[in-house]
Amino acid sequence: MRLKTARKVGIRVLPMGEQTRLAAKVIAAHVEGFMRLECRVLDPMPPPDFALDPQRLQYDAGRIVEHLEAHCCDECVKVVGVLGVDLFVPVFSHVFGEARLGGGAALVSLYRLERTEEGRRSAPELALERAAKVALHELGHLFSLTHCSDPGCLMHFSGDLAGLDATRLLFCRYCRDFLPAFAARGQAVEAGLV
Ligand SMILES: [Zn+2]
Ligand SMILES: [Zn+2]
Repeated sequence: MRLKTARKVGIRVLPMGEQTRLAAKVIAAHVEGFMRLECRVLDPMPPPDFALDPQRLQYDAGRIVEHLEAHCCDECVKVVGVLGVDLFVPVFSHVFGEARLGGGAALVSLYRLERTEEGRRSAPELALERAAKVALHELGHLFSLTHCSDPGCLMHFSGDLAGLDATRLLFCRYCRDFLPAFAARGQAVEAGLV
């Protein structure tokens, strides 16, 4: 087992579409509060048209992650892109968010978080809470956390809104110990937890 001390990492939240600014601010506040990392909201950029799949009329999450990792991230900066458009990865009909394990960029899509399972509008505060949960979950992946078996933990996999709503807004004790802010207090982070 290889151990390394966590580097100091800052998080940037990038609204990709004007209407995602509020969610970006809420996500930034949660990142600071839950992960104890410095976090800033960047100026908004337009939705990423290059990632639109003309057949599916959804946006390719993998392509957007690659783009952000190439242009917005470095060793000390991780980015969370917040979108109002619907995201997919090839094996799923849609995803709420996306991140590569140990990667530099994560995504959150508000598209389905702002709706009920029946497609009606959700309460705005519920949609924002869901966005914060998805963002913290995806950031967990960027810090090499895999899915957690504790159904109440933020790192538990939620494939639908009911599962996401049942997840508590907290990391279980096990997962929390692998986040860098907690590791920086004298613990070590296990590298490559896969
Ligand atoms: Zn996940
Ligand atoms: Zn956990």
